[in-house]
Amino acid sequence: MQTNFSPAQLADPDTAESNRILRTCVHCGMCTATCPTFLLLGDELDSPRGRIYLIKDMLEGGKPATEQVVRHVDRCLSCLSCMTTCPSGVNYMHLVDHARAYIDRTYERPRAERMLRRLLSFLLPHPARFRLALLGAWFARPFAGLVPGASPTAQRLRAMLRMAPASVPSPSDVERPRVHPAIGPRRGRVGILMGCAQQVLAPSINEATIRLLTRMGIEVVVTKDQGCCGALDHHMGHHDPAMRFARANIAAWSREIEGEGLDAIVINASGCGTTVKDYGFMFRGEPEAAQAAKVAGLAADISEVLTRFGYAPTREAPGLTVAYHAACSLQHGQKITAEPKALLKAAGFAVKEPAESHICCGSAGTYNLLQPEIAGRLKARKQDNIARTGAVLIASGNIGCLTQLGDGALPAVHTVELLDWMAGGPEPAAVARARAAA
Ligand code: SF4
Ligand code: SF4
Repeated sequence: MQTNFSPAQLADPDTAESNRILRTCVHCGMCTATCPTFLLLGDELDSPRGRIYLIKDMLEGGKPATEQVVRHVDRCLSCLSCMTTCPSGVNYMHLVDHARAYIDRTYERPRAERMLRRLLSFLLPHPARFRLALLGAWFARPFAGLVPGASPTAQRLRAMLRMAPASVPSPSDVERPRVHPAIGPRRGRVGILMGCAQQVLAPSINEATIRLLTRMGIEVVVTKDQGCCGALDHHMGHHDPAMRFARANIAAWSREIEGEGLDAIVINASGCGTTVKDYGFMFRGEPEAAQAAKVAGLAADISEVLTRFGYAPTREAPGLTVAYHAACSLQHGQKITAEPKALLKAAGFAVKEPAESHICCGSAGTYNLLQPEIAGRLKARKQDNIARTGAVLIASGNIGCLTQLGDGALPAVHTVELLDWMAGGPEPAAVARARAAA
């Protein structure tokens, strides 16, 4: 693609990078075939190619973002399906990240929208605040249907209340900063990202991860001063808070890397994994660049670490059929497709893949709160495809997808909880409930 940036514009490293990305696009349109929003809306401007043109015009013009650009970029899920499909290697992720930050700097959103985005940014990355908000939402949940109006704000408010879980688990003891020693001879030493929203919604995921790893002889270090990976703010275009979160994590893990050393930094929420693996790019040209690159290089999804250290079950096969839902951040963002399915099969589950497994479930970070209509259509489509597999439960590696899909007919459980169960851990509560009801 031809671009027309001035030398002054190209002096900005972010613009120079976007220019490089834009020039790799040959506008063949192959990416449109696998884009969920183009699939649903049929508008070229809601396809990757259409968005690339909009972003190019916005950046070249150097003017504030227009309402049209914002509408179509906001509808993008950042699912990165287009990157898997693109034959030219266009890095759409970095391009849209730059566009979102540019929009945040130059576009004045309507007041209600600004407040909602600020609220999400204030609550979600902070476990204590998020827990309190969920308790409040739990009380208001029965009244979700009474929120009047068809405005985007009313729709979003209803979506937020409906998504509040039926109960909020207590904080888990495993998440406090400490070293969880290996059981038996030590075979490895890893750091772990405790995450933010996940530890509030499903602390059982971190519990299962630590239990399984330590049982496999791997010491697990929960470092002090780590927090949200920054993805929630990053995807809303909030550059500075995202960098603050990432910087704190880089400092926390670097202390361990330079101290006793780490074999990996385990991440069990694939949305976070995609961001941490990108820290090297995010911090290019910053004083922490080398440390960030090291952290990014050590970051590994739990399925990669379990494969590397040789996961083996200890229980008899449970005779259950699992629908494996590939989170976009895992399959498109990190290109991890085989490991989770192989691990589930090794654990004794029959694994089915739903049709359209490359298409997003609509969760996408805060997308299901900010774009509830599109997210709801993608969710229904995904749940239908999963139901057709005949599976009795859903396994996935990302808390966003589990929350999005778990209110349907089938329980949705993190892959690591199933693997831990088959290696001596407790039966996941959602599976036990479903089996008791069957
Ligand atoms: S598939 Fe790649 S090269 Fe083709 S239009 Fe899409 S982004 Fe551009
Ligand atoms: S990231 Fe997903 S929604 Fe956005 S343009 Fe690419 S395929 Fe479409």
